Amino acid sequence: MGTEKTDGGQATSLSAVKENYLKMRAEITAWQKENNLKDLKLPSRSGQYPLFTINDLPENAIIDLWDRLNIVAEEKIDHSKLAVLQDEFSAGRIQGNEPLFSRLSLAIAGVAQAVYQQLPISASVDDQPMCPCPVCGEDNLMTTLDALNGKRFLHCLVCGNERPIKISGCIHCGSENSSQQTYLNSAEFPGVEVVVCLDCGQYFKEIDLRERRVEDLDWENIRTLPLHYAAEQWILKNRPTMSLN
Ligand SMILES: [Zn+2]
Ligand SMILES: [Zn+2]
Repeated sequence: MGTEKTDGGQATSLSAVKENYLKMRAEITAWQKENNLKDLKLPSRSGQYPLFTINDLPENAIIDLWDRLNIVAEEKIDHSKLAVLQDEFSAGRIQGNEPLFSRLSLAIAGVAQAVYQQLPISASVDDQPMCPCPVCGEDNLMTTLDALNGKRFLHCLVCGNERPIKISGCIHCGSENSSQQTYLNSAEFPGVEVVVCLDCGQYFKEIDLRERRVEDLDWENIRTLPLHYAAEQWILKNRPTMSLN
């Protein structure tokens, strides 16, 4: 029983992070199976995108799932306090206890996925608009290149929507000026690149599925978080030469 700490290094902590992620994922899947959101009435958007926003999601469902995740993490918090904390989170005021709020983000995504799966949406083969996500309106996105033909897809890390997009261009601002995009990579993460856009100063990750097989893009996003820090450092260093205001 227990984890042997052999080196105290990154490998040990990453496996602990993965173990925790898998526990949360299993609880979210179980909650989604138990909770049928089919009768949920979303505000009418007259066929406009996004189909819903995070604010449209039922608050009681988010709190219920958040509560379940806290119990799995052995950090049960009183139900009445959760509603107050959720309001703070929505207002952008998060103080301390990062794991608690990252479980709230997971709960929001878990409910958004459940709602998305209930919507009658037909998959399109045509290239779709890039940002924000046309389903949930969030811009927490990454791109993948298809394992067979290299076609580029956009994956929403909130609702899970996946759609084909143009092979090039910044997913945040739509800039197609390839000289304004820098690709950062690391030998530690083969098949993964961070695309930094010099036009808007934002970045996103692109996973080449021809180079590596990925079963869970959400875990892939967490596993490659060190690349975010690298991208932010790169932007800080190069900001003076970027054509931003
Ligand atoms: Zn989405
Ligand atoms: Zn851009």
